[in-house]
Amino acid sequence: MYDVADYFGCNVFGEAEMRKCLSQESYEALRETIDTGKELSLKVANEVAEAMKNWAVERGATHYTHWFQPLTGATAEKHDSFISAPDGDGRVVMELSGKELIKGETDGSSFPSGGLRSTFEARGYTTWDCTSPAFLKDSSAGPILCIPTAFCSYTGEALDKKTPLLRSMEAINAQAIRILRLFGNETSKKVVPSVGAEQEYFLIDRGKYLQREDMIFTGRTLFGAKPPKGQEMDDHYFGKIRERIGAFMKDVDRELWRMGVTAKTEHNEVAPAQHELAPIYAPANVAADHNQLVMETLKRMAKRHGLRCLLSEKPFEGVNGSGKHNNWSLTTDDGINLLNPGKTPHKNAQFMLVLACVIEAVDIHAALLRESAADAGNDLRLGADEAPPAIISIFLGDQLQDVVEQYISTGNATTSISGEIFKSGVSTLPDFVKDATDRNRTSPFAFTGNKFEFRSVGSNDSISEANVVLNAIVAESFCKAADALEGAENKEDAIREYTAKLLREHKRILFNGDGYSAEWVAEAKRRGLPNSPTMVDAVPALTEESSVKLFERFGIFTAVELASRAEIAYENYAKTINIEALTMIEMASKQIIPAVIRYVSVLGGSVNNVRTACPDADVSVQRNLLKYCSERLKDASTALNVLKNSQDTASKTKDAEERAKSYRDLVIPAMKALRRPVDELEMVVDKTYWPMPTYGDILFEV
Ligand code: ADP
Ligand code: MG
Repeated sequence: MYDVADYFGCNVFGEAEMRKCLSQESYEALRETIDTGKELSLKVANEVAEAMKNWAVERGATHYTHWFQPLTGATAEKHDSFISAPDGDGRVVMELSGKELIKGETDGSSFPSGGLRSTFEARGYTTWDCTSPAFLKDSSAGPILCIPTAFCSYTGEALDKKTPLLRSMEAINAQAIRILRLFGNETSKKVVPSVGAEQEYFLIDRGKYLQREDMIFTGRTLFGAKPPKGQEMDDHYFGKIRERIGAFMKDVDRELWRMGVTAKTEHNEVAPAQHELAPIYAPANVAADHNQLVMETLKRMAKRHGLRCLLSEKPFEGVNGSGKHNNWSLTTDDGINLLNPGKTPHKNAQFMLVLACVIEAVDIHAALLRESAADAGNDLRLGADEAPPAIISIFLGDQLQDVVEQYISTGNATTSISGEIFKSGVSTLPDFVKDATDRNRTSPFAFTGNKFEFRSVGSNDSISEANVVLNAIVAESFCKAADALEGAENKEDAIREYTAKLLREHKRILFNGDGYSAEWVAEAKRRGLPNSPTMVDAVPALTEESSVKLFERFGIFTAVELASRAEIAYENYAKTINIEALTMIEMASKQIIPAVIRYVSVLGGSVNNVRTACPDADVSVQRNLLKYCSERLKDASTALNVLKNSQDTASKTKDAEERAKSYRDLVIPAMKALRRPVDELEMVVDKTYWPMPTYGDILFEV
């Protein structure tokens, strides 16, 4: 099996398998359900279940699981074997019924529900998402048949990340079709959001990882001085992939390809030990499933290679963090990309209307979009180093910006800047037509050719929420546009005027400059753009009136579901910071302070010994170092006590929102105050006394 084409997707019960294993009638019925959402009869479900089970059993599977995505952000699975009750002779058969395929039952109260479920009414259901194919996942327990499902409570509230995503895909489909019809397109039947999620991650040596409690408990370092070398030489980005990493990537690719995940691009990222993996884009729900598989596989394969994969957004202070660039576009069933401007966007009225709607949507709901990427870990990234700022703005690039400006000033556009010929000055290198636009790495929401790239999502987060919000807000703008334009007498004029109106009203969200600069923060404020630097500031956007109206209108979330999600967000934030605080307390109390005490005793001993042995010897070096260390030891001890008190106060705060605020305002500053003297000590304490590997040890020897 050397040819990838021979084994790609061999672990997926996909289109080809279904056609092969199902009767023509059932295959067509299932296809119709997948394409149009038509209800599936139990008879067909039974046949699909039987075929799926046979396929899995032939490949060695003994168990199946309803694979779902609860609000923890990870995936969950409960394994059931295929065995039937023994017959009279004590024999079993392997079986999977249509009912078992379609519906699973689980304890809803053991997953976060934000007050939606209490333990006495705990029933939750997982229901088969037939639009995302079932697959086999290899594990130490053998291959397991994973049936992608949505997870809802007994009363129908979504308890997962997938249900709202599917609901939002239906919403944007319905509204985007209306836009296409405005332009006389009667042939496209469906519009699907296409998503490609670029995943950034760090890989470090597992042995070193195991020597640091902060990484074990929190996935990131909570102490650590800067090493002498950072990323300033830019020698890691796109650098040669090291042997050990190469072997790891090969395994990752093979595993993912077997599961039908189109791992495509792999390279070293900006920071030392940082890498990226990007698949080929897929429908949003499949992309969300696949991204979960990517994260899982990265972690699993790392272990196999004696490595540890860190998905945390900021594993090392002062070093670039990791994100997930969410590439998003809209594709019809007959292959049209609504975000493809063509070579002359000024002539493409449909594209311009779609673009104007996206701009309107992002401007109106900027705070909500920011919230969709909110995560305690991501607070350390947004606005720092390479990452986009916490302020949402849109980068269009020279070509589109120019067309948009023509619309704004004249109500129409008559020209498009075209790409120039790229000349290298070397006759043997080919000349080619350049992209009409350069890139802007600082923008959180950038147009990149035929898609938007939302770069704020954290590396550890599910991409579902970001896409739920993108789909919903753009559906709303499409809906408004269709309402306004469907009855117009002169469609062409009406569309042009409407496009110009939207661009005029929402131009404040467009920004092509440096998103990292302090000037932008001031400028954004002047423009009235929201800025939520932390997750706690971002969460209220979920329950704002405009958000509730938006989500209820399209049946994506009810007000109750939104309130529960806000509650869960606050709880997650508080829990995350609490674990970090306790870890710092533990490390400082049991490892760092004792190590420094040992070291200052050695220094003290040296001062005395040297003076006894040689009364005129100069012991000022030892003495100064002793003084320096003792001062910082004192500072660390004081800061440790403050942190203990703050953690205690915060953890006792009753209300979830208030508790999250206490962690942000009391505990995080106390954590910073403890880190400072400890990092200073790390720089001077004899390395043999320092109780854990340093940034230099971890980042450069993988
Ligand atoms: P870039 O260099 O702009 O980051 P790539 O071609 O490397 O672009 O693509 C990055 C990600 O975007 C990949 O996952 C890719 O499949 C995805 N992508 C490409 N085109 C589209 C599209 N039309 N819609 C959604 N995602 C796309
Ligand atoms: Mg990219």
